[in-house]
Amino acid sequence: MDWVGLAGELAEEFAASAAEVDRTGRFPTENIERLKETGYLTMPVPVELGGGGADLETVCRAQSALAGGCASTALAANMHLFGIGTAAEAFADGEAEARILLELAANRLVIGGSFTDAATGLNVRVSATPARKVEGGYVVSGRKSFCSLAPVLDIFYGTASVVGAEGAGLLLFALPRDAQGLSFVDTWDTVSMRGTGSWDVVFDDVFVHRPNERMFSWFACTLTAVYLGIARAAAEFAYRFVSERTLTGMTQPLARQPGMVFSAAEIETALQPAEALLDQAIRRRRTEVLAAADIATVKYVGVNAAVAAVDRCLRMTGGLGIYRRLPLERWWRDVRAGPIHPPNNDGALEAIGKATLGIPPDADPRWGD
Ligand SMILES: Cc1cc2nc3c(=O)[nH]c(=O)nc-3n(C[C@H](O)[C@H](O)[C@H](O)COP(=O)(O)OP(=O)(O)OC[C@H]3O[C@@H](n4cnc5c(N)ncnc54)[C@H](O)[C@@H]3O)c2cc1C
Repeated sequence: MDWVGLAGELAEEFAASAAEVDRTGRFPTENIERLKETGYLTMPVPVELGGGGADLETVCRAQSALAGGCASTALAANMHLFGIGTAAEAFADGEAEARILLELAANRLVIGGSFTDAATGLNVRVSATPARKVEGGYVVSGRKSFCSLAPVLDIFYGTASVVGAEGAGLLLFALPRDAQGLSFVDTWDTVSMRGTGSWDVVFDDVFVHRPNERMFSWFACTLTAVYLGIARAAAEFAYRFVSERTLTGMTQPLARQPGMVFSAAEIETALQPAEALLDQAIRRRRTEVLAAADIATVKYVGVNAAVAAVDRCLRMTGGLGIYRRLPLERWWRDVRAGPIHPPNNDGALEAIGKATLGIPPDADPRWGD
């Protein structure tokens, strides 16, 4: 299956409603239905389990292409795809329990979740949602936020902090949407990525069981691919715009102005190294386990290059670029969400800088006097 080709076709289809989705902030359920019926959401599921067997590189390329059509749809789908990709790799490494999740995905169920509590924010290593040990599992109560895909999730996964006599610990669990006590609340009204349906999730004494880990690389690479995909779409738009626009009184298109030439160069010198770093990380992962600081570097460089590049695109197009009837202002807003995802800019810099200076990531105290 040509997943990148399919992503390109779907991107073209989704582009038709992307502005309306952004304007209204509605969740594009019909796009997710298309991703289901075309098998796109089964892309990383192993072939023997009924999926597409796509590796990290293919998923990244496909997601970049999809992001150029509807960034919200691509980012929301990413919250499903990175988890499934992680499980597929674990399954290939002999972790048999990953099979359950993969079979659910192969059966076209939508899987996503939230590691973010309103109270603990970015610190995904802890959770302010307590899990109380009971016979056969845990009971979870509390509220999480930023759960992309919430309107259509079939399976929710998330974290809670184990409390009580057992001592502290982070519990990763999965639940069916109709689990008793689980509900989703529409709180998503943002400036960027308005169509991702990243609602709150409320737990009212919900019973859970099950753990697992290994998501960092899949999350960071696929997420970076989405934001670089948005920036690529914006760059192509800006290049076309200045190449096709000749102002009255000029004999050559705007592209022949030095400012445009230099802007195009600035965009390429931001995007190409970021794209190359992502490609290199994907290739390195085939034979080695990347350090957390290396993954943080890929994510930091990628999402910040995307922001810088789209800023420059807006400078190239000038005033027309801020009109809502053109897609550039939407990409300019959407791309700004990139640095917020974990590790956010400060978190990434801390990880990279400490690794560079030989300071353990969990050094205590965290900072010197
Ligand atoms: C479009 C979008 C979709 C998302 N979808 C999902 C999803 O599906 N699932 C999911 O789990 N998450 C999702 N997220 C959430 C995201 O991954 C973050 O967890 C979330 O944005 C919380 O970030 P925050 O900036 O509010 O964090 P906060 O922790 O509240 O941080 C606020 C600020 O304080 C700083 N800060 C925090 N802690 C420290 C510290 N110890 N020392 C110094 N400074 C600190 C941060 O750098 C930041 O600038 C999504 C985010 C976006 C933007």
